[in-house]
Formats: sequence, structure tokens, C-alpha cells
Amino acid sequence: MMFNYRMYHCIGETRCLLRKDVIDTLYAALPPTTVKFSCELESIELDPLTTKPILRFIDGNTITTKGVIGCDGGKSILANFLNLKPTKMFTASTIRGLTNYPHGHPFDLEFTKFKKDGILVGRIPIDNNMVYWFCSQQHISKDEEIWKNPEVIRQHTIELLSNYPQEFQEMAQNADMNSLSFTHLRYRHPWELLTGTFFRGTVTVVGDAMHVMGPFLGQGGSAALEDAVVLARNMAQLGLNHAESGSKVIVHSVGKAFDQFVRQRRTRVVRLTLQAYLIGMLVTSSRLKKIIWIILLILLFPNQNSHVDYDCGDL
Ligand SMILES: Cc1cc2nc3c(=O)[nH]c(=O)nc-3n(C[C@H](O)[C@H](O)[C@H](O)COP(=O)(O)OP(=O)(O)OC[C@H]3O[C@@H](n4cnc5c(N)ncnc54)[C@H](O)[C@@H]3O)c2cc1C
Repeated sequence: MMFNYRMYHCIGETRCLLRKDVIDTLYAALPPTTVKFSCELESIELDPLTTKPILRFIDGNTITTKGVIGCDGGKSILANFLNLKPTKMFTASTIRGLTNYPHGHPFDLEFTKFKKDGILVGRIPIDNNMVYWFCSQQHISKDEEIWKNPEVIRQHTIELLSNYPQEFQEMAQNADMNSLSFTHLRYRHPWELLTGTFFRGTVTVVGDAMHVMGPFLGQGGSAALEDAVVLARNMAQLGLNHAESGSKVIVHSVGKAFDQFVRQRRTRVVRLTLQAYLIGMLVTSSRLKKIIWIILLILLFPNQNSHVDYDCGDL
């Protein structure tokens, strides 16, 4: 049987790395005891007397802070505190996984996408043995809880790829069970990024909490790292890496650093989320509407890859 599909080789440089490696590297650069794990935030409020943010955790503990940088993802509690609108959902969902080939995989070291019957599969080797892949489809409205079971995700992926060649099914079959995830794709509307207030006093949001976007450009995580560089730079320029505790100057400087951070990031994240939004609409809407999205993409982003040609500056 012939396997008819559209295959895309992605233009430009693509680097794939394990999230764990990024987190381990950042963690190792911090002084010991800086990080506390397993602290689930329940709510945040401002102290009525000092206006300092008070964080309340599920386990009953509270922390009064000099400043809060909320990087709690697409369902951010901190974003709610800033009165940002709830994020919206695309009509698509994506399964992601890693497959280890102990004797080496047969794939070229490049990012390749395949499309057949409305199912988009992407694949990129991380090294000679490990391959990252994803599989996007129309979202299925089922109880979200079932997707917490990796075996359900694996079986579902094998079914989805039943019309794909054997190598794709094997990829799903042999996936590392701990790596499998199912995500209903969400986004923050580009207009909200254009007009939204992303800091209040000494509380701000970064990464997905600020600008969750569809993964159609593969830039969400990269943009979060850019946020970190820009924010850290602003804080250091205002002397906050050496600040004494308790001073009113700190509160003022933290607010100023957050203000500058939001100003410097707004254009970049508006453009990224807008482009990702238009591509998301293009891949998930009917044929007639696709024309609108194509025209807008051509007009607003004549160079489709301009988003990678960006420098957020030095730390
Ligand atoms: C299918 C898919 C493919 C993607 N592909 C790419 C890609 O190729 N390239 C790219 O750059 N980006 C990609 N992204 C986007 C990328 O995953 C995100 O942009 C990135 O993870 C955002 O990082 P973050 O730290 O802001 O949020 P997250 O990674 O969501 O981390 C948020 C953290 O906050 C924690 N948290 C949440 N709520 C609470 C709470 N109440 N209390 C305490 N902790 C809390 C969570 O447990 C989590 O650890 C993709 C996303 C998806 C869905």
C-alpha cells in the first residue's frame, strides 16, 4: 500500500533539548537552599498595611515577599491576580513523547513534519538514540482525567498512527511511558498581550503565565528564556542583585524593573503570539476561513521565519 502524506523539512536552525537538562542547569547555577520543591500555590493577596505580596500554599504555609515573579504556566494563579483574562483553547490537542532507540535510530538529525488525514506528526532526534516526537489532532472532548494515564495516551497514539508506516507506530509503541503527555492547546489572545497589565506593584508574570501560545512556531519555551534574560538584566541594572532587605527602595526598584521588563517584552511577545495564533487558526479552521488566515499571515509576516532572527541581548 502507498503511504500518501505531506512531508515538511523545517527551514532554519532547530535545537531540541530535554526540559530536565534546562531545569538542572538553571538549578545548578543557583545558591544552595534557594529552591523549594512541592510548594503548590493556592492564592496571593497584598498585605493591607505594607502592600507586600503574601503567598498562600496548599499545605497551609504562607510567605510574605518583596516581589513575586509568577512563572506558573498557562493556568497561572498570578495571572488571575493581575486580572488577566482566562486563557483560551484551540480546537486542537497534542501528544508528546520521547522514544529511546538503544541501538541508534535510523532518522536524519533534522526536524521533519508529516501530515495525513488531519493528523500532524513531528519528529526530531535529540541525539543518536533519543527521538522527540509529537502528534497533533482535533481535540477530543473527553474527561481530561483519562489523559493522565500514559497507557491511554500510548494506545490512542498507536490508533492515530494506524495509517502511518510501521516506523511511526513503533515510535509510539516503544515510547518512554514517563515522557508521554496529552495537552489541549491553549493561548492568550494577542490583543490582550498588546493591552494587558502584566505587573502590579511587585508582582509580575513571565513565560506561559504571561504569553501562553499555540506550539505552532515552537517558541513558547524559548520566549520564556528570553523573558528570564530581560527581567534579570533589568533587575541587575537597578542594583537588585545586591539589595538590602526591608528597604522601601527595593519595593520601588522591583516595581520599576517589572515595568521596564513588560515594556521591553511587549512587542516581541505580541508578534510571537499573533503569528502562532494565525497559524493555529489556519490549521484548525474550515477551508473557506483558511484564506483569511493565509492573507493575514502573508501581510503581517512576509518572512515566516523572522521570529527566529531575534536577539534579546546579553544578561
Ligand atoms: C505541544 C507543545 C509543544 C511545544 N513545543 C515547543 C517547542 O518546540 N519549543 C518551545 O520553545 N516551546 C514549546 N512549547 C511551549 C513550552 O512548553 C512552554 O512555553 C514552556 O514550557 C513555558 O515554560 P513556563 O516555565 O513558563 O511554564 P511551564 O513549563 O508550564 O511550567 C510551569 C510550572 O509551574 C508549576 N505550577 C503551576 N501552577 C502552580 C501552582 N499553583 N503552584 C506551584 N507551581 C505551579 C507547574 O507545575 C510547572 O512546573 C510547546 C508547548 C506544547 C503544549
